Amino acid sequence: MTATAEYVFQTGISPASRETYAVDETLTHCPVSHDLLDVQYEWDKLPVPSSLREFERRWSSRRNPLDFSGVWRFRELLPFAPPEQIVTIGEGQTILQQSDYVGKYVGLNDGCLHLQYEGLNPSGSFKDNGMTAASTHARMVGAKLSACASTGNTSASLAIYAGVTQLFRCLVFVGSGKIAYGKLSQALDYGAKTLQIEGDFDDALMQVRAVCDEAGIYLCNSVNPFRLEGQKTIMYRVLEGLGWEVPDWIVVPGGNLGNSSAFGKAFIELMQLGLIDRIPRLAVINAAGANTLYELYEQQGLRWNDGRPDQALIDAFYADMDAKNRRANTLASAIEINRPVNLTKCLRALDACDGVVREVTDEEILHGKAQVGAGGFGCEPASGASVAGARLLRQQGVIAPSDRVVCILTGHQLKDPTATVNYHTADLDGSADSAVSSANPPIVVPNDFDRIMEIIRQFE
Ligand SMILES: *Cc1c(COP(=O)(O)O)cnc(C)c1O
Repeated sequence: MTATAEYVFQTGISPASRETYAVDETLTHCPVSHDLLDVQYEWDKLPVPSSLREFERRWSSRRNPLDFSGVWRFRELLPFAPPEQIVTIGEGQTILQQSDYVGKYVGLNDGCLHLQYEGLNPSGSFKDNGMTAASTHARMVGAKLSACASTGNTSASLAIYAGVTQLFRCLVFVGSGKIAYGKLSQALDYGAKTLQIEGDFDDALMQVRAVCDEAGIYLCNSVNPFRLEGQKTIMYRVLEGLGWEVPDWIVVPGGNLGNSSAFGKAFIELMQLGLIDRIPRLAVINAAGANTLYELYEQQGLRWNDGRPDQALIDAFYADMDAKNRRANTLASAIEINRPVNLTKCLRALDACDGVVREVTDEEILHGKAQVGAGGFGCEPASGASVAGARLLRQQGVIAPSDRVVCILTGHQLKDPTATVNYHTADLDGSADSAVSSANPPIVVPNDFDRIMEIIRQFE
């Protein structure tokens, strides 16, 4: 495949703002409409395989780094970069696990629940799928300095790409609230210049956008449309893991809504290209303490509306939030976001995928996470929201027991050990009084052989 820049362009997402820009322009919104931009392809002029199975052949040429990558193996489906410019560090080697253990907890028949482990990426979260694409675009435009705001995983991901490739330096902005130490330690260790803003994620994002605009720094948050191109491949790998069969449901936690937006775009395009014959339903799960999408979509009826969502409704919601000084608050720090930048793109995804949105409490999130720990490879708190959300939708009868459900586990268990240890020592919120059913606390024993044997015998 060769570079085909003339068939790839960026455009505002609403029909009202059909300005188009070249693929090698560095823009994160349409300067005219202020819409987010979307990468669009003239597919009929680009080489696209006639069947998804053709991608499997690349398993046999894994010495080629582009074929090894779980993102670029699918490069004909995100054909914005000349192959020689592609930046890859071996991302996307992730696993789809069928788990009857977690399936039982969710309320599904055996064989029906699948967990997609995006924590197995190089920096330990799904963010690498997007960062390989953003880094590629940064290289295409010759960026020397990049930046992002982050609740932790975006900064870890940007930092690893900057560090491993040495193609550009990077700046990360984090809020001064909750940042899991696993994630902060990565940004520091990978050598990112780290600015801790006195404020939360929403504040940090507002600042980094302004700074990047002012100083011409390459912005790597999910307002960057190329990140979403990379994140589409999570869905390609899910389909691959299911033998190219389309599941009934994709369940994903929602923070800034980049992932859910990318998933919707992936399925819209696969249908357009005739590579799948139906689209799965999408469930986006908010934490109850950061539930903007749930409030707007489920409570207030906000819809995509052919690209013309009710902006007045959105504005009124945020005005009320500001008036009441309502701040996002959840233990699932990766989704502790009150102003999801990809809201409109997510509405498009929900529209295309007959989607639903739910909110789950921190306690439900941590119980879901504990199930994944006990019956799977483990995950970080935000990822537990997808299991908790699937369970809620099962209880509500929206998901049927025989539906094939894929929960996306967005981040690795070791990202936030504090949350895990607190849960198992029944200290959910630091107050030490929450009764937790599936907690597995350490047993304190004296340094005494007989007493230790007494305890061991209780297990026999
Ligand atoms: C970033 C992140 C999310 C939220 O994803 P969005 O695309 O922002 O909705 C969820 N879980 C983890 C672990 C993350 O790092």
